[in-house]
Amino acid sequence: MCEQRNTKDAVLKGMLLRCPHCGEGKLFRSYLKVAPSCQHCGLDLTPQRADDGPAYIVILIVCHLVGFALHLTYKSFLDHPLMLALILGTGVIVLSLAMLPPVKGMVIAIQWAKGMHGFGAKAG
Ligand SMILES: [Zn+2]
Repeated sequence: MCEQRNTKDAVLKGMLLRCPHCGEGKLFRSYLKVAPSCQHCGLDLTPQRADDGPAYIVILIVCHLVGFALHLTYKSFLDHPLMLALILGTGVIVLSLAMLPPVKGMVIAIQWAKGMHGFGAKAG
């Protein structure tokens, strides 16, 4: 059985793209590529299984935001529907790309804090 881990602190560290254990080492070695281990504390990050979860969460959030924005701006762009599509489409792409790393960091941090997959087998 692993020690009690603070989920709230881990999620905050993960969303800042830092190691959920120490908060110092980088979680990613590139845009969405998870580092094999923390450079600071040596936490093995290979047990993470974020898979498609972060993408689903980002789609859920971004689509709700853009759907709400569409309702607010629809009447203003009645004569220029392509302009509305261009603005909202650009917003979807930018928002999605900006949200993916912190959401993936959050998912990995939750997995570590809850001892999911291989994170629970070793102390650390
Ligand atoms: Zn660390």
